[in-house]
Amino acid sequence: MTAGEATIAATTTEQRRAALEAIAAEVRACTRCKLAPGRTKAVPGEGNPDTEVMFVGEGPGQTEDAQGRPFVGRAGELLVRLLASIGWRRQEVFITNIVKCRPPGNRDPEPDEIAACAPYLQRQMEVLDPAVVVTLGRFSMAHFRPNERITQIHGTHAPAPAATGARDALAYALFHPAAALRSTDVERQSYGDIAGLPRVLTEARTRRASLRAETPGATIASPDGLALSPELLPAPSTTPGDDAPTLF
Ligand code: URA
Ligand code: SF4
Repeated sequence: MTAGEATIAATTTEQRRAALEAIAAEVRACTRCKLAPGRTKAVPGEGNPDTEVMFVGEGPGQTEDAQGRPFVGRAGELLVRLLASIGWRRQEVFITNIVKCRPPGNRDPEPDEIAACAPYLQRQMEVLDPAVVVTLGRFSMAHFRPNERITQIHGTHAPAPAATGARDALAYALFHPAAALRSTDVERQSYGDIAGLPRVLTEARTRRASLRAETPGATIASPDGLALSPELLPAPSTTPGDDAPTLF
């Protein structure tokens, strides 16, 4: 399968896990943009295939590039502390980035690189169908909340555009943890912003339940032209299994 092909609706945990692993395998072999030759390891993303919350950063840094895992350096340590402040653990969410390969010297990702990599993120969104997308920093915000300024909208949410692959999701904007590492004021605001996340999740659940109840039996055209019937999509879990997220 190539990045542009349809992602089959994944309805069980195992199907979602397999679909995410298939995307990850493509990312690890990808040469679609000029970041490919400079990477050590591509960083597809990782987390719970049953999660309702996806965190999307900018791109791998040096530690992530070495390990092939997202947010495992100093910014990742702060992200884990931010999550702990609301009683969440990183294994309960899914964490990925706008670009899956490290930009040289940690420079900003360029528009052609972001565009080349976007289908992978879109397919991860389609598989996980998150209720909330937490954007970390400006580049992720620009993807899910275009034409906004991070200093004005951090700590607020808005519906994510359907073209991102997120369906009926709220996008919640946070500063990038690396920015919080550089400024105690941004760090303080980041703790305040993440404190609002559980309430946003509750709101997102209510919102999507009512949106989905309004169109019983309606089919939803995926961006690839597949028609997915709502019954085939994962139902919100009321009795989480052992490996299901425990986001209160
Ligand atoms: N910064 C990011 O944006 N993503 C990572 O995975 C690590 C640091
Ligand atoms: Fe492929 Fe994305 Fe890596 Fe570019 S950044 S080579 S598009 S996986």
